Amino acid sequence: MQDTLGMTHTFHPPLEGEVCVQFIRCGKSGCRCQAGHLHGPYHYRIWREGAHVRKVYVKAAELESVKAACQAHRNLSRSLRDVKQARMRLTQSILKEWRQTQRYLGK
Ligand SMILES: [Zn+2]
Repeated sequence: MQDTLGMTHTFHPPLEGEVCVQFIRCGKSGCRCQAGHLHGPYHYRIWREGAHVRKVYVKAAELESVKAACQAHRNLSRSLRDVKQARMRLTQSILKEWRQTQRYLGK
């Protein structure tokens, strides 16, 4: 997929979790990271799967599309929660009417 600037994007379906940044100490002796100049930034997508926390590396080329996919997932989750709440309110109002009808019928 290309946008108007001719940049290529990879498309991701909504993805759970969020993108986090990490800087890494490689452990090689004499490396600049031992003096505090850590390697990175490296990006990871982190999400929860039941009791486990999953973590996958995100390539720089995919960073923006993965971030967008995480945002899309958050938006979808919010919409789903709204739909569930609306359904619950509807169920409660139907139950209430049902009970009133039962009382009216003397049951
Ligand atoms: Zn290093």
